[in-house]
Amino acid sequence: MSRFARRRLLALAALLAPLALRPGHAAAENFPSRPLTVIVPFAAGGPTDTVSRLVAEAMGRDLGQTVVVENAGGAGGTIGAQRVANARPDGYTLLLHHIGMATTPTLYRKLAYDPVGGFETIGLVTEVPMTLVAKKDFPANTLAEAIQVIRRDQEKLNYANAGIGAASHLCGLLLMKAVDAPMTTVPFRGTGPAMQELLSGRIDLMCDQTTNTTEQINSGALKVFSVTTNKRIPALPNVPTSAEAGLPAFQVTVWHGLYAPKGTPPEVTRRLSAALQAALRDPKLVARFAELGTAPVAQEMATPEAHRTFWLADIAKWKPIIQAAGQYAD
Ligand code: ASP
Repeated sequence: MSRFARRRLLALAALLAPLALRPGHAAAENFPSRPLTVIVPFAAGGPTDTVSRLVAEAMGRDLGQTVVVENAGGAGGTIGAQRVANARPDGYTLLLHHIGMATTPTLYRKLAYDPVGGFETIGLVTEVPMTLVAKKDFPANTLAEAIQVIRRDQEKLNYANAGIGAASHLCGLLLMKAVDAPMTTVPFRGTGPAMQELLSGRIDLMCDQTTNTTEQINSGALKVFSVTTNKRIPALPNVPTSAEAGLPAFQVTVWHGLYAPKGTPPEVTRRLSAALQAALRDPKLVARFAELGTAPVAQEMATPEAHRTFWLADIAKWKPIIQAAGQYAD
C-alpha cells in the first residue's frame, strides 16, 4: 500500500472511530430509558427478596424508571445467578445476591455459567445478622436447652434451608458442627416459603436473616435462641448473642451485593452504583432496614471496586473451609 493510500485509510479510520463508539455511548448516556429488572435468586417473601424490593424501589426513584423485582429461586441461588450471567450486558438485568456469590464458586464444581467472570460488580448493599429460630412449640427456651434437644432428637428434627450455598445452609452447617449433631435438612426455593412451614410447625428449626425473622420473633410467632453477631442488635434487644448463649463459634452475617452481566459498559455500572448509593441514603429504606435488624453499608462500599475487592476476598476465605469440609453441591 502506498504511503498516500495508507494515510487516506488512517484518515478514514479516524473519521469513523467516533461513529463506531457512538451507539454504546448514546445508550449509556440515555440510560436508563426503560424499566429495569432485578433478579432475586430466591423465592418471594424471603430475606433476599425483602432487601431487593426495598433497594429496587429506592433505586427506581433515583433512576426515574421502575425497577421490577423478579424471583428466580432454586439450587441455592444458582438458577437466578445463571439468568443474569447470560443476560444482555446492557444494565437492564441485574442480580441482587448474598454471601452465596462467595461460596458458589467452590461449592458448585459444575455450573452452566462463570460464577465469578460472568459478572460486573455494582456495589455492596447490606450485611444482615442471622437468628436461630424454631417453631413455637419447640421443646426448649434457651440455646443450651435447644442444643440438648438437637443432640437427643437429631434424627427426628427437620432443619429448613434454601439449598446448598444459601446462607441458611451455611448457618446450619455451622450450627451442626458446633453442636456436633447432624439434622435432616429440607431445602426450599428460599426461606420465604420455609418460614411458612416453620410457622405452621411442619419444620422444627431454621437459621435465617433478621430481615425475615424479626417481625415473627417480636410477635411471638416463633422461638428464638440467639443472634449470630458479636453484639446484640437494636431490633431484637432481648435476644442473646450466640456467645452469650454459650456457643461463640456460632457466628455468621450475610452480605449482599448488586451485579450486572459481564461486559456491561462502565458508564452504566457507574450510573447504577450512584443510584444504589442514593437508595442506601434514602430515609425510608434506612428506617425499614433498622426495623428488620440491619443497616445499609457505608457509601464507599457501594461502589464497583469496593464490592469486587470484598467479594474476591470472601471467595478466598470460604474456599479452604469448603474444601476442608469436602461438601460439594455436585
Ligand atoms: N437468604 C436466604 C438464604 O440464603 C434465602 C432467601 O433469601 O430466601 O437462606
